[in-house]
Amino acid sequence: MPDPNRKAVCLLSGGLDSATCLALARRDGFDCYALSFDYGQRHLTEIDAARRIAAALEATAHRVAKIDLRVFGHSALTDDIAVPKGRDEASMGEGIPITYVPARNTIFLSFALAWAEVLEASDIFIGVNALDYSGYPDCRPEFIEAFEKMSNLATRTGVEGITRMKIHTPLIRLSKAEIVRLGADLSVPFGLTHSCYDPDEAGRPCGQCDSCLLRAKGFREAGLVDEALR
Ligand code: ZN
Repeated sequence: MPDPNRKAVCLLSGGLDSATCLALARRDGFDCYALSFDYGQRHLTEIDAARRIAAALEATAHRVAKIDLRVFGHSALTDDIAVPKGRDEASMGEGIPITYVPARNTIFLSFALAWAEVLEASDIFIGVNALDYSGYPDCRPEFIEAFEKMSNLATRTGVEGITRMKIHTPLIRLSKAEIVRLGADLSVPFGLTHSCYDPDEAGRPCGQCDSCLLRAKGFREAGLVDEALR
């Protein structure tokens, strides 16, 4: 049973990284409050995935916050911009991809911080990863450190010494293959997870976007079969 004195807010996108991150927090005895976002992403099917994963991994609660990042757009995930397909690793490694959503993790972590304050929780888990060509500036350790520092200045519970916020990023330095192996060890229901940026109307992955290609590479290198593709 999770310890109700160790509440943690766990960001849960519905992908395999955030699912593995939630499973880790559960394994380490945290009482997990999963948080997902309906932010206007073209891959809305990931929210259904998040609901199923939160239930399967026995999160104590799961909330879906509705925010609309399409008001600013400027990302292939939230605007009328094509998702890049079939890129090789060299192209993926060049610069910040068009699938980057402006300030997304800053926004998501701010919502997580608000819920943590309400819960009087001192721990937030986010499954960011700085390897595997992600190129996203808000997945880097220096960003997370700065956000953690800011968190303790930003809240009533921080200022009054009720909480001392810690942002946990257990996957930040792992390769996709290492995340797949870790998830398998933790019995993460990979078949429920969704990674594709541009699924078809039935929610099936495209197989060719950066996220699909990195996921496939991770499973291949881990020597495991991706249950989501069965
Ligand atoms: Zn895809």
